[in-house]
Amino acid sequence: MNRDLDTSRRPLVLIWEVTQACELACEHCRADAQSMRHPDELTTAQGKALLDSAREFAENQLVVLSGGDPCKRPDLTELVRYGSNRGLSMSLTPSGTDELTAEVLDDLSDAGLRRIALSLDGGDADSHDAFRGETGSFAATVDAAAAARDAGLPLQINTTVCAETVEQLPAIRDRVRELGAVLWSVFFLVPVGRGRLLDPIAPERADRVMAWLAETADEEPFGVKTTEAPHYRRVKLQRRADGADGDADAGLQRRGGIVAGDGFAFVSHTGDVYPSGFLPESVGNVRDDDLVDLYRNSDLFTALRNRDALGGKCGACEFRHVCGGSRSRAYATTGDPLASDPLCPHVPEGYDTSEGTASD
Ligand code: SF4
Repeated sequence: MNRDLDTSRRPLVLIWEVTQACELACEHCRADAQSMRHPDELTTAQGKALLDSAREFAENQLVVLSGGDPCKRPDLTELVRYGSNRGLSMSLTPSGTDELTAEVLDDLSDAGLRRIALSLDGGDADSHDAFRGETGSFAATVDAAAAARDAGLPLQINTTVCAETVEQLPAIRDRVRELGAVLWSVFFLVPVGRGRLLDPIAPERADRVMAWLAETADEEPFGVKTTEAPHYRRVKLQRRADGADGDADAGLQRRGGIVAGDGFAFVSHTGDVYPSGFLPESVGNVRDDDLVDLYRNSDLFTALRNRDALGGKCGACEFRHVCGGSRSRAYATTGDPLASDPLCPHVPEGYDTSEGTASD
């Protein structure tokens, strides 16, 4: 395997939640965002040390600065510049607020920011603002998308799929196209944080949504990826086997899907290291421990990378190496990060459903 893509050695995506502070009160907030910054947030110097550690994973390591709203940190541009100068690929997921001005985006672009991801959870102001808990958020997001384009920043749109938003997906797809995004990242709800207050869609519907997303990816000028739904890869392979997806990614069979702890890692605002932001089992803290060592050698991360150790349907599944199920959702619903992903309706070949259920 290309050493750069070996997910036992490095996360392809490293998220640093630089703060939990945020103006918005989104219904689904994983971070239970607060209006004030936490007094024990990583300092600027500790953040730079974290970025130095990230650089040890690989040249051009992707680091996503998330929140909360990362724009709540006054040192944000300094951190982006530091990471960029170290050779990291710096990306940002700010909240859609009036604070995300053209001037801020120009400064971030000048500092070397590679991509910006904005959230859109409705196709119009009424639906998006209701979900985000803030009147004006839709308009601020659309304005920020235009300003990002003007600043030369590639745009990603993030959308949460749950019962409250699923009917909006076609309208959101149209907005993604209109805004000129390069990627639509579709997150399937994991019931953690305030996300527990939302309703997930049923497994069969999730499969239909993923098939629709695969069609969308074929038809639209932007890419489509899923978050916490690696069975999108299984759905694409099955479509290809059925002859419905002639252009499916030929690498699907060879590469494993990125799941919590396997190609993915998360560092909290106070430095705790987790397999993902939706799997709240800390393996250490960057203040005391070596991030690279935690990723490569901690028991939890190592276990999450062993697809043959998965339980229930996922452990018996012929797609476990390309999919593996959402470890975060398994943990959120059962307490066991190696259990089956309850959002997946697939029954593996030869699996005896009387011995286990989708949620065992
Ligand atoms: S059963 Fe598990 S591994 Fe198999 S496709 Fe579903 S989520 Fe993926």
